[in-house]
Amino acid sequence: MTATDWATRADWRLREAHTLGPWAMHSADSAGRVHPEPAHPFRAPYQRDRDRIVHSAAFRRLAHKTQVFTGDHGDYHRSRLTHTLEVTSIARTLARALSLNEDLVETLALGHDIGHPPLGHAGEDTLAELLAAEGGFNHNAQALRIMELLEFRSAGFPGLNLSREVLDAQATRKRDGRAPAPLLETQVVDAADSIAYDTHDADDAIELGLVSLDELLELPLVAEAAARAREHSGGSSGGALRRAVLHQLVDLQVGDVVAESRAAIDRLEVDSVARVRAVFDGGDGVRGVRIVSHSAALAAAKKQLEIFLFQRVYRSERVMTVRKAVQRRLSDLFQWYVDHPDELPVRFRARAADCGVPRSTADYIAGMTDRFLEQDCARRL
Ligand code: MG
Repeated sequence: MTATDWATRADWRLREAHTLGPWAMHSADSAGRVHPEPAHPFRAPYQRDRDRIVHSAAFRRLAHKTQVFTGDHGDYHRSRLTHTLEVTSIARTLARALSLNEDLVETLALGHDIGHPPLGHAGEDTLAELLAAEGGFNHNAQALRIMELLEFRSAGFPGLNLSREVLDAQATRKRDGRAPAPLLETQVVDAADSIAYDTHDADDAIELGLVSLDELLELPLVAEAAARAREHSGGSSGGALRRAVLHQLVDLQVGDVVAESRAAIDRLEVDSVARVRAVFDGGDGVRGVRIVSHSAALAAAKKQLEIFLFQRVYRSERVMTVRKAVQRRLSDLFQWYVDHPDELPVRFRARAADCGVPRSTADYIAGMTDRFLEQDCARRL
């Protein structure tokens, strides 16, 4: 067979027809883009969406944005970018195991956090307070704003002109009641996000000395991961045990989602995207039922880990001290631009005419990396 024969065989339409379940979002059924574009000779629609996200300025800036811990804490821990890559890796595993559209899942995962402002949740909460009278601020809504309005790739229209399904998925994440029910591809990314942060925040917290592995081992979920780690790598201890536990923690959560979701697909007789939506929309009585989910037992164990992380990590004195300083600097910078709108970059100045100075200032500040924000504070304040 020639390379051209192989290319025909590997064409995305054929590949998707052979490998995706009937519950997956097939690219051929996409509702397309707001601004129609000719088909690409060999990239499927969602592959093109993924590339547009990866090549966007908002994506590149994730490298220098805080996940939980700022740069003041050293450089072991996750940034918003490495978190995003861990989510993508887990989401692709789930997608393949559940015969879902991996291209779409990868796009959604890579784009899921591009709306986060600098300095993590402290930055987001501060912007939400500052914009309370203007409709608030939320990273999921901001991601949609970036995709549809703030990024540009063509003189003909604003935004990235992504496929309808990618925009709908992001609208669902911001909990827009009018958004269509989430596809399984969207549900997989939400599950992967939670698996990634519960695990890596525990790892980062140990590294920073906020908690010890022994304390974590008192939680049933971590204890189960440790039992598996000892079984697989034979009674190791110290750093090796810690790494093995964290790997097992991801693996057992992923395995649980795969088993539970496969069982739900069979039990609920999910044989189409329409059925996925009908299940979520409450055809069976309750709205919001997710087919991609953890078992009740694992979900309960995960909740205990999350409560522990909340108390010991997200609300730790070290994190809260940085948080207070961040909130003050960000508020002061915001106020400075609201008082000096002519100092906004030209694109943001132009948009302020449509959406008002506070919203355009928030768009500008939300796009900053942690270090750019610091430099700008030093220059302006
Ligand atoms: Mg995330």
